[in-house]
Amino acid sequence: MMTSETNEKKQFLASAAPAAIEEFVKKTGESAFRAKQILEWVHRRRIADPSKMTNLSTALRKALEQEFICNAVKIAETFPASDGSCKYLLTLHDGEEVECATIPAEDGRVTFCLSTQVGCPVRCAFCSSGANGLVRNLAAGEIVEEFFTLCSVIGGMPDNVVIMGVGEPMLNVQNLIAALDIICAPDGVGLAQRRITISTSGWTPGIRALIEHGKQWNLAISLHAPDDKTRALLIPDKFRKPIREILTVCEKHREVTGRLLTLEYVLLAGINDSVRQAQALAELALGARAKVNLIPYNKARGAFERPSRETIKAFENMLKTRRVPVTVRVEKGSDSQAACGQLRGARLDKKKGV
Ligand code: SF4
Repeated sequence: MMTSETNEKKQFLASAAPAAIEEFVKKTGESAFRAKQILEWVHRRRIADPSKMTNLSTALRKALEQEFICNAVKIAETFPASDGSCKYLLTLHDGEEVECATIPAEDGRVTFCLSTQVGCPVRCAFCSSGANGLVRNLAAGEIVEEFFTLCSVIGGMPDNVVIMGVGEPMLNVQNLIAALDIICAPDGVGLAQRRITISTSGWTPGIRALIEHGKQWNLAISLHAPDDKTRALLIPDKFRKPIREILTVCEKHREVTGRLLTLEYVLLAGINDSVRQAQALAELALGARAKVNLIPYNKARGAFERPSRETIKAFENMLKTRRVPVTVRVEKGSDSQAACGQLRGARLDKKKGV
């Protein structure tokens, strides 16, 4: 699969190993402590733009820019919503675009939502991100810079990070792991592992890779249906795994990491919102010891409808009756085209003159 990390000869400064930076400094003839200073800028101050590294000489900053891909992610447009959340359209170093978001909670905590791919190959029927397929994976350095960019927007670190933006993270799992290892490095950026949640449509080979890696990142499965037949209406065959297989792998993830599972469920009128389906979902959640996050559909360009308030309540109540921990996602940013992929989708439409 195409990634900008593997196709470029240059490494991204944000994900370059300390040894690569030390080697670079050696090559320039500068003293070894310059490598420490560069690493401090990137991993402590979360800055991958040499022009801001004020304690380095102009020549060294220029050399850094020539050696590495620096400052690879830039905010192209900002879409604040009335509830305080904000979406950002980011331009990557090759001109491609992805989205990310800052989502504040009422108690002041801030969550970042990050993307892992330009477009998405999974093509879920209700999702704008998959509408145009996959363009490419994000490199680890780009995911790290996405994080750094949002840190500079809020002037610090977030409380939580959700990998729920554009793309199927488990189809770019090695770059994601490399990026999250940098973001969670205790002697570097330092975000606690448990503050990260990775959301996947259930691509089990990727989840197995996460298990092997053994970090305490939370897992959320975009289930969206309690049976494979209904699920097949929403997620095309190519990347859809049987629910049984997904939950078996999730059980293993829980055993290895100790983290609880979340089942994400987009509620679509007339498709997956019946009380009978709520009962079936409750069975699955109880068996998997999972909590459920209901997401009333946010109409973008899809052919689906959002269920009525009463239907959403009845679905939620059924889960509560069965003692399944359940939340209904409060919609954030609905006035800023908040559903994942809508910003980029709208820009593509504009470029095509739609
Ligand atoms: S819902 Fe997720 S996996 Fe499905 S097409 Fe959208 S981004 Fe891809």
